[in-house]
Amino acid sequence: MSLLAPSAEDPSPAGISPTEPADSRAHLLNNATAARYRAAVTESVARVSARIAATDRPFTGISVEGLTPTVAAVDLEAPLHDPAAALDELEEVYLRDAVYFHHPRYLAHLNCPVVIPALVGEAVLAAVNSSLDTWDQSAGGTLIERRLIDWTAGRAGLGEHADGIFTSGGSQSNLQAMLLARDEACRRELTRDGAPAGARLTDVLPRLRILTSECSHFSIRKSATLLGMGAEAVISVPADEHRRMRTDDLTDELARCHRDGLIPMAVVATAGTTDFGSIDPLPEIADLCVRYGAWMHVDAAYGCGLLVSRRRELLDGIERADSVTVDYHKSFFQPVSSSAVLVRDRSTLRHVTYHADYLNPRRMAERRIPNQVDKSIQTTRRFDALKLWLTLRIMGAGALGELFDEVIDRAADAWKLLHDDPRFEVVVEPQLSTLVFRYVPATGPDPDVIDQVNLHARDALFASGDAIVAGTKVDGRHYLKFTLLNPETTLEDIATVLDLIAEHAGSYLAERPEPALSAR
Ligand SMILES: *Cc1c(COP(=O)(O)O)cnc(C)c1O
Repeated sequence: MSLLAPSAEDPSPAGISPTEPADSRAHLLNNATAARYRAAVTESVARVSARIAATDRPFTGISVEGLTPTVAAVDLEAPLHDPAAALDELEEVYLRDAVYFHHPRYLAHLNCPVVIPALVGEAVLAAVNSSLDTWDQSAGGTLIERRLIDWTAGRAGLGEHADGIFTSGGSQSNLQAMLLARDEACRRELTRDGAPAGARLTDVLPRLRILTSECSHFSIRKSATLLGMGAEAVISVPADEHRRMRTDDLTDELARCHRDGLIPMAVVATAGTTDFGSIDPLPEIADLCVRYGAWMHVDAAYGCGLLVSRRRELLDGIERADSVTVDYHKSFFQPVSSSAVLVRDRSTLRHVTYHADYLNPRRMAERRIPNQVDKSIQTTRRFDALKLWLTLRIMGAGALGELFDEVIDRAADAWKLLHDDPRFEVVVEPQLSTLVFRYVPATGPDPDVIDQVNLHARDALFASGDAIVAGTKVDGRHYLKFTLLNPETTLEDIATVLDLIAEHAGSYLAERPEPALSAR
């Protein structure tokens, strides 16, 4: 086997030819191997594109037991030395049975189909491999990320002192926002007039409270725990029948905090709850935050796509937030991961600024060298921003907004479909693109049976691979959920999936053991 890499001008198929076991350096990407890199990546792209072109279901329906032996059988101590053979193997262990979000009958979680300009970005950023912690590891990447933060903050209307940072996802963005809010609250409490002399951070921590709706994301509770406040620091505010935070209850809770000597460190409003897509009343919440001196965080992990849509007004009030979470990998059609946390006042980011002599010494900050690590809770960090950059440069923000608007329109039509269908019961008319519903048998059996029927229908559908839907609980009962993020999903697709659910539910009911038997 030839060890000579073909020249960069002439990437012959030999570029993905097997290597000799001893030739470990042939795998390093550099000037001598650029053609090998091109051929190997081109081959992998060809395979994925063939797979995607031929996918007729979102999933094969394979079980954990069915797939585990295939992955376990791979001998990691016996490399194949052949990219083509490894890709063949990958078909078996991954590609054949992966869950494909681009398929129109994938209706489960907040996973979007991805836009091609972003995939171009992903390919570029992986190969160049910039790390965005310091200027001296990225140069232009740093400036591109900063432009995109400014652009997003501008869309949100956060003002001229805004800033932010790309993160790995909404959970991390929420964690960082809560960290900033915590440290701001502690600083204020310890420096206010009349603060007890000698008071310390540890005296303040147990008095901090985060107020958020009962429908908010679990990462808020997780953040409270990670930040040393304990899950009990999160006060759950009831939601109204549209699943939006009730501001009368929020007012009561804030007043109660005040009475009890507790510190309302932050109010977390959700702009697009994960289950219902409901948007909390941002302007009223902003007023209350001002009144009680609380940090206002808007978790727009899901609803951020509204920033570029014709429904932008649904986010009115977001411009008053102290911090905002945006997940581009949800409603901006970006591949995982791509997310950011934005702040209204860039000076608050100092709470995550630490200087290391080897990396970002203080004198660099004094010389205004832009080291993004100064604003991040990560150190080495992917150049995820490049995906959004190429998306905006190739297709533009308006085109992204059209895609999101289309799925919101589709959800409204699907709601009518569900609402008029006597087989189903639907919870709320959506503001965004989720639908929470359940199958209700005509004979009206008891609530436990309805739970079982819906759980079964979801599992059976997943095992068939014909479609994937999610599930959740409402008032302690099991429901099904569609999360629509694919403009290619038609109303007919949705009608088909509803028929499939009804079929699985019907056969479960028909085969169900007699109640007397199941009770034993
Ligand atoms: C998805 C989601 C998150 C978490 O985001 P990840 O990117 O999955 O970490 C947080 N908040 C809301 C409202 C979400 O929908």
